[in-house]
Amino acid sequence: MSDRNRGKVILIVEDNKHNMELAADLLEVAGFTTLQARNGENALKILADNTPHVVLLDLRLPDVHGLEIFRKIRENKKLDATKVIVFTASAMKEEEEKIRGMGFDAFISKPIDTTRFVQAIEEILHQVKKG
Ligand code: MN
Repeated sequence: MSDRNRGKVILIVEDNKHNMELAADLLEVAGFTTLQARNGENALKILADNTPHVVLLDLRLPDVHGLEIFRKIRENKKLDATKVIVFTASAMKEEEEKIRGMGFDAFISKPIDTTRFVQAIEEILHQVKKG
């Protein structure tokens, strides 16, 4: 168990059980605290009561599109410092560029690369937020 990420909270929004468990396990072993939502409604409930450092956001959710969650995060001043990482299986270069243009802080593709996943999140977490 690592101490370096102690106190850092990551909300994982993901409806796929396997991806959720793998992401949460990797992050918790690295010392992060995780919050977990399997759908958009649950994600918004959690965000009403918590200010995570990072939201790892799947776009294809059973109730709402992840972009709707993203829009609500960016409308909420309390979440100004929260970094949003798109977490999607889409490997399409064009779609990735379109998504980046919407102002997400970063993009992590699925399936999860277990050797790179935690490091990628740590790097994004420590980036200075773009104005
Ligand atoms: Mn999904």
